[in-house]
Amino acid sequence: MPIIEVTHLHKVYGSTVAVDDVSFAVEEGEIFGILGPNGAGKTTTVECIEGLRRPDGGSVSVLGMDPVRDRADVRQVLGAQLQESELPENITAAEALDLYASFYPSPADPAELLADLGLTDKAGTRFEKLSGGQKQRLSIALALVGNPRIAVLDELTTGLDPQARRDTWQLIEQVRARGVTIILVTHFMDEAERLCDRLALIDGGRVAAIDSPAGLVARVSSEQTLRFRPSSPLDETVLTALPDVTGVRRDGAHYVVSGTGNLPYTVITTLAAHDVVAAELRMDQASLEDAFVAMTGRSFQPEPVG
Ligand code: ADP
Repeated sequence: MPIIEVTHLHKVYGSTVAVDDVSFAVEEGEIFGILGPNGAGKTTTVECIEGLRRPDGGSVSVLGMDPVRDRADVRQVLGAQLQESELPENITAAEALDLYASFYPSPADPAELLADLGLTDKAGTRFEKLSGGQKQRLSIALALVGNPRIAVLDELTTGLDPQARRDTWQLIEQVRARGVTIILVTHFMDEAERLCDRLALIDGGRVAAIDSPAGLVARVSSEQTLRFRPSSPLDETVLTALPDVTGVRRDGAHYVVSGTGNLPYTVITTLAAHDVVAAELRMDQASLEDAFVAMTGRSFQPEPVG
């Protein structure tokens, strides 16, 4: 049974349709991504899951509960990332965790959580003095302090430098390893591709597709391209005869081979059998971005990283 079920969710703000018709189910233990451009309706969707907004149509179920009607019970099992503005200005990292821990009957050990998130030496530091990456990690700690079964993380790496982003990704994988189900809202393709088991592509308040990142890419094109410079002259027919190969062309000293299946393995072993080494080897494949463009008919324009 899915841990979260969103069925024909519809939500308007005045005359703006924020979420038109969104349905998906999240299985326990997975990282489920909600990926889409700015204004697609991602945050509104998760706010309905968190019980912060009441749907205008359709329904949301979290472990069989209605997030609006059963808000207090849902809060016990669902941890959401804090918005910066929700914390008192002078609170320290440890005080914030203790405060949020006090809301739950069986919270995680705040000191342990600080250690897990690499914040032990920042325990006494005031929130406003933390770096962007440290604030982000604290907000993840606050989402986890109630020992939730589900964590909702919205745009968690926006504004982080590349190293802090990679650290945060590792952290999310550690959280999942503890069995926590994660809903990850993002407009970063690479983040979705790296972290999510499955994801819903959302555009204009509707679901364009739901699949694994690889599955979404494969829907658009299963074709791969290998480019290499052969170490010695090559008889092209050796490659064109391979069942996985759909095309071979020359580009100066390089060959460009297109095909499907396990193309790199097939091509490289065949070349090796003819004593040819593939130098300067490069492989290209359709990206999640290509999948988005193909499925929505428009380009994916992420908001500037701020
Ligand atoms: P996303 O998270 O994908 O950027 P949102 O759910 O924040 O999308 O927004 C979807 C649409 O609803 C956008 O057009 C946005 O401008 C509008 N919107 C979001 N929140 C509000 C609000 N509180 N009042 C009015 N319009 C809103």
